[in-house]
Amino acid sequence: MSSDYEYIIVGGGTVGCVLALSYLSCRLSGGSLRGWSPKLFCRDHEPNRGSHLRGTEAEYNWKTVPQPGHGNREIDTQNGKILSGSSGVNCGLWMRGHSANYDAWASHVDRKHRDLHASREVHGFDRPISTFAGLRNYPLKTNVFNALRQSGLKFNPDGNSGTPFGISLFTDNWKNNLRQSAGLAYGLSQTDVFTSTMVAREVIVCSGAIKSPQILTLSGRGPKEHLESFGIPTLSDLPFGQNLHDHISGSLFWKLRDPENGLAIGSPNFNHPKYFTGMPFDWIATITVPDETLAPAAAADGHSIDTLFGTGPRAHVEMLTAYAPIASAGTLYRLPFDGTHIATPVILLLPPGRGQITLASTDAADDPIIDPQYLSSEVDRAITRKEVRAAVCVMETSEASTFVEHETPPAGFPRLTSASTDAEIDARLAYIGASFFQNAGTMAMGSVLETDCKIKGIAALRVCDASILPFPIASHYQTGIYGIAEATADIILGNTS
Ligand SMILES: Cc1cc2nc3c(=O)[nH]c(=O)nc-3n(C[C@H](O)[C@H](O)[C@H](O)COP(=O)(O)OP(=O)(O)OC[C@H]3O[C@@H](n4cnc5c(N)ncnc54)[C@H](O)[C@@H]3O)c2cc1C
Repeated sequence: MSSDYEYIIVGGGTVGCVLALSYLSCRLSGGSLRGWSPKLFCRDHEPNRGSHLRGTEAEYNWKTVPQPGHGNREIDTQNGKILSGSSGVNCGLWMRGHSANYDAWASHVDRKHRDLHASREVHGFDRPISTFAGLRNYPLKTNVFNALRQSGLKFNPDGNSGTPFGISLFTDNWKNNLRQSAGLAYGLSQTDVFTSTMVAREVIVCSGAIKSPQILTLSGRGPKEHLESFGIPTLSDLPFGQNLHDHISGSLFWKLRDPENGLAIGSPNFNHPKYFTGMPFDWIATITVPDETLAPAAAADGHSIDTLFGTGPRAHVEMLTAYAPIASAGTLYRLPFDGTHIATPVILLLPPGRGQITLASTDAADDPIIDPQYLSSEVDRAITRKEVRAAVCVMETSEASTFVEHETPPAGFPRLTSASTDAEIDARLAYIGASFFQNAGTMAMGSVLETDCKIKGIAALRVCDASILPFPIASHYQTGIYGIAEATADIILGNTS
């Protein structure tokens, strides 16, 4: 092994690329990557190609164990399997989230949340990722905004300010009409990429929330009982793989009144080139669920709202309006993109349920067992019912009735309206619900990691990726994860106190 390399980064994903490409002299171990070539470091940068990568070799295409909250279905769940990782296959949605969640994380590890870039009032402008909001102006932009307003939501001029509530412009990090991945944005010239593991002064595991705990458990660190059940000697008894959390989504599809006007993807008249330079959304709505809805559900689960979410309004739910019947991978219900339907994907941002990653075997090439425990609590269900009702409420406004005829349900299910029962909503979500790609929490800061991302009690081993999030953040995670990567690089290089 050459002594030129101080660090080995295991996993050339979102965090791995930022650490390796921008800061450290290191080797990047892409063990999962066979036949790597520079072209492969981010697949298909063309706009809207992201969704075409689902199910391809550019991703790990895992399935969870059967999820009782989703009618015992095995739910699809993904991660990028290329250099750039999930940032190379994701949808480019840029959502910083609610500052209260970051503050809660800081106090969980006895620190203060301090955003070093929090100026020019609240945004930084000097790092490689570029973001853009509301550039495409789809034909229904004003109508959808008016319907959201009529449903009672307020306009928020900057949903990425740390206070996301209300209606904000959809923001993405696509640049020059191309998807912007970590490998592209941070540059690849200073890094050597190898597909086998070597020794260095320090190893930084950045293999994502599903694979990092698997790799480390196989190395003899993890829950003692679990290690013993596989005959692996226990070097450290730590809760690796526990605390898995993810966002859950469900999409309702709405039949357009005048599809010939070119209002959605698939219509020949939905044809302006700029419509295809990003995801087909203008607006993102972030909604809190009132305490009176949450309190009985929390009591039924044996919790108080404060212990689950802290005090004050929390950004429990997100709603998008898509100009196509877009639904997450793994749902049982889809419609063709033929210009006749739009969709309202709703996303549970703060799920209280927690699952786990465990070993299926002692072979690192095998997939681990993924059990996210989706919709396993009363609070999960109370929030998801509320998010579905919020979408229905928007589409029942007089403004929406000018462009939407009705909801189109899957065969055998009644249409959802404001008169639908909780049982009808639960049944629908069990059928359509799917992951929204935010696996996290399995190597949590506080229980497993120190605040410098070192594993407790182990000097030369860090973990840095989505697995470090101790609890869900009301955002989409790439934004925070770029921040975590840069902060960790600063810590490693001694650039911060
Ligand atoms: C399909 C999809 C869509 C998404 N859309 C959005 C979005 O629009 N907006 C948003 O904010 N977030 C989105 N996310 C989430 C976000 O992209 C991820 O949370 C984030 O990129 C995770 O970064 P990471 O560094 O933790 O892991 P990753 O970026 O997934 O990196 C992990 C890397 O480790 C490698 N690896 C795994 N095992 C090994 C091994 N044994 N040896 C070596 N290497 C290994 C993998 O190949 C991969 O390159 C999406 C995620 C997915 C999967």
